[in-house]
Amino acid sequence: MKIELRDAAERIQAANNIVVAAHINPDGDAVGSSLALLLILRAMGKNARALLDDDIPPNFTILPHINDIEHPVELSETEIQADLLVVLDTQPDRIGSVSKMVKAPILNIDHHITNEGKNVSWLFLNANAAATCEIIFDLIEFLPVALNEDIAHCLYAGIATDTGFFNYANTRPSTLRAAAVLIEAGVKPNVIAEEMERKSLADFKGLCEALKTMEFFYEGKVAGLFINEAVAHLVDSTEGFIDQIRVIDGVEIAFVLTCRSEDIYRVSMRSRTVDVSKIARNLGGGGHIRAAGCTLRKPFDEAKECLLKAIGEAVKDID
Ligand code: AMP
Ligand code: MN
Ligand code: MN
Repeated sequence: MKIELRDAAERIQAANNIVVAAHINPDGDAVGSSLALLLILRAMGKNARALLDDDIPPNFTILPHINDIEHPVELSETEIQADLLVVLDTQPDRIGSVSKMVKAPILNIDHHITNEGKNVSWLFLNANAAATCEIIFDLIEFLPVALNEDIAHCLYAGIATDTGFFNYANTRPSTLRAAAVLIEAGVKPNVIAEEMERKSLADFKGLCEALKTMEFFYEGKVAGLFINEAVAHLVDSTEGFIDQIRVIDGVEIAFVLTCRSEDIYRVSMRSRTVDVSKIARNLGGGGHIRAAGCTLRKPFDEAKECLLKAIGEAVKDID
């Protein structure tokens, strides 16, 4: 059921044992929104835990209380009792094993236009919000809790990364107003930016390897990188690789095809105007108009062909 933000706050107030989760392969918004909500819930006196079924990229380790995020693989319990599971920044089919561990009504808070609200009790969706962190910022208004410096850091990190540091089309006046309030609460934008943009040497070398694989398709309207298993093992994260090629003159859609394991490939797409969320949705994934992704369970050649066919349909009418 779709609900308003005020109702989402009521659902939270009514629960005592709350688990917070976000998507696998977590980005700044997934980590920032989970951590911010965890801190908010604790400030409200709730018994709250945050569970992420994946490693957290090292860039986010500067966030306050980052070590309070728990990982299912490290837990001895197989089932966690809760009266509410809050799923952030994704639909609940992308939270990995957390969905098996926590059997509770789901409150889903998200900004992905492709979220259809399947298998959730309540969905608050604002596809205009630049980040789930922007929604959590708005949610504070409806909760008996005050913004503090720790919460502000987490929210700012999510908003800054999901907007490409306020560069992307999802940056709205309200996004910048929220950022201003977060800076007033103590966030240092340069400190967050430096940490988020930091790359390990291994990741940088991985990027160099990945760039050697660059191919153009459809008269240069599409550019792609291919990260094989060896390079994928070399790096901690491929975050940002796609940004190197999406800026090339004439490129409408940029993609990165990354090997996760044998016959499993993750697709990242970015576009200038084309709606890549539709392409991703047709391939079993989702996302936003200009940034979307999916996972293809096929051998490399088939994955590449299937992706290029879908992308080709989308760019065929562009001059
Ligand atoms: P990424 O390229 O990983 O940065 O993802 C771009 C956007 O698409 C993000 O908002 C992701 O949450 C979303 N996305 C990526 N993969 C999937 C997927 N398999 N299903 C749904 N959304 C996805
Ligand atoms: Mn995300
Ligand atoms: Mn997000």
